[in-house]
Amino acid sequence: MIYFRFLDIPAYFIAYIIISFFGLCIGSFLNVCIYRLPLEDPAERSLVKRSSHCPKCGAKIRFYDNVPVFSWLILKGKCRNCKEPISKRYPLVESLNWFLYMLALTFIDVMNYPVHAILIALFFSVLIVIGFIDYDTMEIYPSQLGLIVILAVLDVIFGHTITIPQRIIGALAISVPFFIIGEVSRIFIKKKYGEDFRGIELGDTFLMLVSGLLIGPKCICASALIGIFTAAVVGIIAKAKGKESKLAFGPYLAIGLVFGSLFGNQMIDWYLNMLKAPEVYSMLLR
Ligand SMILES: [Zn+2]
Repeated sequence: MIYFRFLDIPAYFIAYIIISFFGLCIGSFLNVCIYRLPLEDPAERSLVKRSSHCPKCGAKIRFYDNVPVFSWLILKGKCRNCKEPISKRYPLVESLNWFLYMLALTFIDVMNYPVHAILIALFFSVLIVIGFIDYDTMEIYPSQLGLIVILAVLDVIFGHTITIPQRIIGALAISVPFFIIGEVSRIFIKKKYGEDFRGIELGDTFLMLVSGLLIGPKCICASALIGIFTAAVVGIIAKAKGKESKLAFGPYLAIGLVFGSLFGNQMIDWYLNMLKAPEVYSMLLR
């Protein structure tokens, strides 16, 4: 459902400009998080203390070379000082965050649920960080999950979307099956290969638990379906190309959670309505 038709055109235009600005600036900060949070040295891990610098030559990046996306394009993806290439990931993360904010503005009922829309946009930002760090390090940090809990609590107080019992069902709907699958697969893997690891990691399980608290039962189920499907497709392609088969699940769950939180209710309602339709039963019972 597209909601911006509820806004008159000038208001929508202004909202679009403001949200674009925040999307790009927060996207730029997400790059710092993705780059610094996995670092070993706690002093280097600080997100605010040090100014940005080129990872190759160490030159300080001036404010006019630090404008999201545009600076990368103007500098043609190279450091002004040492001319070494700057990773495409920087503009990618910034434009991805901008794009997801645009999706939130377009597909969430911002007129009736403005705070919920902002919280979901911030949820997308956390998911970008979780997805990229899990892709790099195969780890999801408790601090990242804690941020989602805070968003869920704020949504309870200001969001006015779903009830607390719905949130509890949402938290358990996917995390409990994921936990059971993880435990059962661990027993099998240990018996067969003698290695101790889970088919679904605890980080992924907790990600679905805290996200369910924020987005509720329908959206979390849709998210899990999209995430598992995406991971399966990518896994099959990777296997066909002969690449390593063990991949981080987090990035695919993050993709699932983005689309699940935007379209999950419609997806599940459509599915349930289809089951309710009498022609389905006459077809099955024939
Ligand atoms: Zn440099």
